[in-house]
Amino acid sequence: MTDLIAIAIDGPAASGKTAVGRKVAERLGCRFLDTGGAYRAVTLEALRQGVDLDDESKLSELAENIDIELIGGPDGDRLLIAGADVTDDIRSPAVDRAVSQVSAMSGVRAAVVPQQRRIAAQGPIVMVGRDIGTVVLSDSKVKIYMEASAEIRADRRVREMERSGRSLDPMQVLEDIVRRDRIDSEREDSPLKPADDALCIDTDGLDVGQVVERIMRHPGLS
Ligand code: C5P
Repeated sequence: MTDLIAIAIDGPAASGKTAVGRKVAERLGCRFLDTGGAYRAVTLEALRQGVDLDDESKLSELAENIDIELIGGPDGDRLLIAGADVTDDIRSPAVDRAVSQVSAMSGVRAAVVPQQRRIAAQGPIVMVGRDIGTVVLSDSKVKIYMEASAEIRADRRVREMERSGRSLDPMQVLEDIVRRDRIDSEREDSPLKPADDALCIDTDGLDVGQVVERIMRHPGLS
């Protein structure tokens, strides 16, 4: 990690970016940031405050002023809004359904992206999201794009939720994932797509460890 500044990992919903990114960061001894958390926090707060999700100026103002904090814990980072732990709330089905509409707004992204760049500037980091290789850290020498079929991703999401004691309707999860991918890929500002120089990994038949090994063999990491 001598002159390596950042590793950008992008991909659609439930493609395994977070599990893989965390392990890569562990292996390299650097920090990890899941950038979806900020968009989820803004969405949760908008839902709680009853903000109209079509009102870009209100949502942008909220994104500018929201007090988000990440604190390390034994089971991973906890996300706080104004000091209150919302780590589980930002993963609720209601936030899942609304977050892509909120994150498509340029005003919201204009508030969130500079914060992510500031975090990256503080030292080596693995950052995961939708626009990390294309926008947030477009100078990164190591860009990964993780793909998997929607069915496999939905199945992974249902199992992940079961492990944390929540049961979800698999068909509904699949529908939500397909819908979210469509909005994320079709939006005008920073659409979800692989960067031209990204290493694309199809993870359908691979487990987390195998994907991590592929990333560790990236020429930019040797
Ligand atoms: O990765 P996660 O599922 O938590 O992301 C939630 C949503 O946040 C995505 O569906 C997308 O709409 C938005 N997002 C984004 N840009 C990022 C990370 C997430 O637009 N870098």
